[in-house]
Amino acid sequence: MSKDKKFRITSPQKFEGEEVFDIKLRPKRLSDFIGQNKIKENLSVFIEAAKKRHEPLEHILLFGPSGLGKTTLANIIANEMASNIYTTTGSVLERPADLCGILTNLEERDIFFIDEVHRTNKAVEEYLYPALDDFTIDIVLDKGPGARTCRIPIKSFTLIGATTRSGLLTAPLRARFGITFRLDYYTPEDLFLIVKRSAKILEIEISDEGAMEIATRARGTPRIANRLLRRVRDFAQVNNKSIIDKEIAEYALEKLEVDKNGLDEMDKRILLTIIDKFNGGPVGINTLAIAIGESAETLEEVYEPYLVQKGFLNRTLRGREATSLAYEIFGKKTKTQIQLELPNNL
Ligand code: ADP
Repeated sequence: MSKDKKFRITSPQKFEGEEVFDIKLRPKRLSDFIGQNKIKENLSVFIEAAKKRHEPLEHILLFGPSGLGKTTLANIIANEMASNIYTTTGSVLERPADLCGILTNLEERDIFFIDEVHRTNKAVEEYLYPALDDFTIDIVLDKGPGARTCRIPIKSFTLIGATTRSGLLTAPLRARFGITFRLDYYTPEDLFLIVKRSAKILEIEISDEGAMEIATRARGTPRIANRLLRRVRDFAQVNNKSIIDKEIAEYALEKLEVDKNGLDEMDKRILLTIIDKFNGGPVGINTLAIAIGESAETLEEVYEPYLVQKGFLNRTLRGREATSLAYEIFGKKTKTQIQLELPNNL
């Protein structure tokens, strides 16, 4: 494992080669999808209603940090609708022609899933609008000065867009999604169930305490819980343990430098840089990114959401600030605490 990878053991983004596990561990039906109860309840109503009317579902936007189950949900929706699913990523759709081939091949009520939909370029996005509004697309006939466009019908389908950055979606595209679901970080209890389920599929013996240890340190993210489970299994095997119990889980997670709060090296680096170099903040995101040696985009997309949600970091108009909780976990004193301790005559 490279040093770089080590920093990212709790990064919610996919590692190279991890797709195999992602696919194997992915729940297939809504009833197997753990947590996100509000979304599941609403979704099952929408799916049942659409099936009764023999209509496609309205276009759906899934929004939330990486690794929380957006791709999984898109595939589950297709399964529940008994439809085909075509998957692509916003950044690979470069020209309208790329879209044309997919859209003309869709069957009635099929699902077209675009991951990272905010990365779709403007020309492709505009080409998509008539397809989304009234299931028609423009195709260009002939070349050169005699070129004409012709509007042709396509089958009615459902677009599912997934994004980690809903703020980057253009207003016209956002307006075309009839249903929006925001996925939240999972509770340790839900992650516990996910770890137990994954362990069963991967035929790993794990005690309840061992599973809970992984669940509480997985940054509220199923992909991370599954990754930690596989890494802890390695430690268990090397140590001749036939079952992952609390002791070996704790030992392995310590070796992997994942602390009790689920923070890894990079999280700690971010918080300590704000505290030590910028006096607790506020510090602008670009300055912080340079100080840490990571891109501002990765900081915003990958690390900050969890740190903010856990109350370690504040995003203010003037920049990022470490909270008193962040000071506390590193055993450091805030500016106010230091001032309060100063004798009055100083
Ligand atoms: P995203 O598309 O949001 O990045 P994925 O759908 O690829 O996330 O999920 C990552 C992995 O986490 C999947 O392989 C799946 O096994 C697991 N996972 C995600 N959500 C759940 C869930 N609610 N229940 C069980 N496993 C889940």
